[in-house]
Amino acid sequence: MKGTVHYEVRDNVALLTIENPPVNPLSSGVRQGLYDGFAKALADDTLDAIVVTGAGRAFIAGADITEFGKPLEGIDLHEMCAFMESSEKPIIAAINGLCLGGGFEVALVSDYRVAAPDAPIGLPEIKIGVLPGCGGTQRLPRLIGPKEALDVMLSGDPMPAAEAHGIGIVDEIIEGEIVDGAVAYAQKIVAAGAATRKIRDESTRIEAYRGNDEFFAEVRKKLPRKRRDRFATEMIIQCVETGVNSDDFDAGLQFEFASFDKCFKHPQREALIHVFFSEREVARIPDVPKDTPVKTIEEAGIIGCGTMGGGIAMCFANVGIPVKVVETDGEAMERGLGVIRNNYEIQAQRGRITKTGVEERMNLITGISDYNDLKDVDIVIEAIYENIDVKKEVFEKLDKVIKPGGVLASNTSGLDIDAIAAATSRPEDVIGTHFFSPANIMRLLEVVRGEKTNAESIATAMKLGKTLGKVAVLSRNAPSFIGNRMLNKYGYQAGEMVAQGASPYQIDRTMLAFGMPMGPYQMDDLVGLDLGWRARSLAGKEPQSFPERFNDALCEMGRFGQKSSRGYYIYPEGSRTGEQDSEVLELAKSIAREMGFAATEFDSETILKRLWYAVVNEGARILEDGIAIRPCDIDIVYINGYGFPETEGGPMFWADRQGLDHVLADIKAFKETCGGEIWEPAPLLERLVAEGKTFSNLQGS
Ligand code: NAD
Repeated sequence: MKGTVHYEVRDNVALLTIENPPVNPLSSGVRQGLYDGFAKALADDTLDAIVVTGAGRAFIAGADITEFGKPLEGIDLHEMCAFMESSEKPIIAAINGLCLGGGFEVALVSDYRVAAPDAPIGLPEIKIGVLPGCGGTQRLPRLIGPKEALDVMLSGDPMPAAEAHGIGIVDEIIEGEIVDGAVAYAQKIVAAGAATRKIRDESTRIEAYRGNDEFFAEVRKKLPRKRRDRFATEMIIQCVETGVNSDDFDAGLQFEFASFDKCFKHPQREALIHVFFSEREVARIPDVPKDTPVKTIEEAGIIGCGTMGGGIAMCFANVGIPVKVVETDGEAMERGLGVIRNNYEIQAQRGRITKTGVEERMNLITGISDYNDLKDVDIVIEAIYENIDVKKEVFEKLDKVIKPGGVLASNTSGLDIDAIAAATSRPEDVIGTHFFSPANIMRLLEVVRGEKTNAESIATAMKLGKTLGKVAVLSRNAPSFIGNRMLNKYGYQAGEMVAQGASPYQIDRTMLAFGMPMGPYQMDDLVGLDLGWRARSLAGKEPQSFPERFNDALCEMGRFGQKSSRGYYIYPEGSRTGEQDSEVLELAKSIAREMGFAATEFDSETILKRLWYAVVNEGARILEDGIAIRPCDIDIVYINGYGFPETEGGPMFWADRQGLDHVLADIKAFKETCGGEIWEPAPLLERLVAEGKTFSNLQGS
């Protein structure tokens, strides 16, 4: 059995210490060890109380999810918790560190909770598609009230113990040595005559909510977008509702148990677990071992304070790293810094940071105009226009001023990192760090290794991603890297379908129903239709394809997207929600007719397949070319950079679920009906189907 629990006696108190490195999950040996420890302490008449704590940096980080789906070994967690709850001696949970999920539920069946001030406490189950299934949905509302308990469970985010103390989860914060403090606390309550205190017997915090349907209706109405489509969300709300409305605590536990089972069997759960493990897996790079030295980043430099440069500067300032931003144009500098300040002030107005927080962050960002002032920075990230010649010039300059060993990074969306590196005398230090817009919000960081980038620079950029709160995925250097290369196929397919008779609105609706935050045309309106149009007119090029002609015709009408209140959609004053416009549909039809396209009817299933199968086919090529390490790297890129719903596990996971033989058959059918290189089946896809395998069989390769 995995994990142990050490037993010792301190005066009149039994001390149980869980040891299951690194984070003490509730593996079989821990559950059994706790049960045996409690039994031993309860049988010893010389003892008055029991303290339970964790060795190392965690109290208990949760269930052991590697045991999910396997036969049960040792005692079941529910039985162990029921035994704890029946204890006639007070149990004190001494929360020394991470206290998550099942770990928090163990703390909730304890009679008292004391904690180190910064120990993270939370119920993250919703993130993997389940719910707190060991009494958490029943006990937490009784302890702190249904509203607060739902906030904790539906966000899934942990809070520091000091905050948990503020809302009544933790009884006492212990500043010094936690075990000594917990034993002293146990002795104090025993001396004061306090005995056990079971949350199941508390009802004062829930009484006001009994029969209050409006409260629960309001909770459902105000769910954040990321939680609305989760099956587990509704299950958690129902569990709390059941617990609040019933006097029978055990019936509530049973309802929770049954609801957990429903979540467990739901397809979203498997997808979310895949995402959970994939996020960890992407950090593993076969030829960059874990012990590769990383460079310390104490100060950063950024070239360009435009949309991306400004956002990236905020990422550094948010984690307390000073950053120097270079703009050669004084007005652009002023504008860029103004945008950053404005963003922070909006965050302060929304209560996300304090007013002092705004100033602290702004003080970390220094605008400069002389490249020589970058001589002390540990990394510089170039974020100027997407033009290879100008970027090369900038890197030549950076090569001269950045200290030896400093990382030279480019935020290019898809230009050749090797060409950029060749402009320097140290290509081993040159790397792509592709942030997504808005850079201070989007979680994805595509790290792009050039031919000569060394392991240290790769490890440093990957670690930087983590420091900045991002999920970093490594790509090889190839046009448009991983994400944009796939997005190009998606956009192309959308355009082709409109040429063939689908409406942009129908396409957007289909993608929204699939769970995307917006459809491709809503996205274009947000980014602006004029970028391509202007680039084409600057280069003196005529629009060629249907999407280019459609786009440019809209721009000629002054329809640039949201910024001009008209694009594919019409945006009434101050609104970001677009309305359909028949003029746009007519325009699409007439251009398509002119170009000789025949109009056909489209259903959502075809739209979905045309868009995603084009993406998946390209994903298979990306794998074949060794651009992405594993299919899960592609999934993580698409979820965090392009809004693919987590509940579907990412495009490659989703394709596996459709059955790769079906995917391939449809791709071949599209090749017949639509033609084009895009529908040439990727050899990897053909090979997997021939061998009866899936993309998931390639994981870990
Ligand atoms: P932008 O036009 O908003 O900003 C570029 C800034 O660089 C301008 O403020 C300009 O004054 C400044 N600049 C130009 N040359 C300079 C120089 N030699 N020295 C110092 N400053 C200089 O552009 P952006 O949208 O922020 O894009 C920057 C880079 O990021 C591009 O490579 C782009 O492809 C990439 N990118 C953009 C997005 C996006 O959504 N906007 C997303 C990912 C990556």
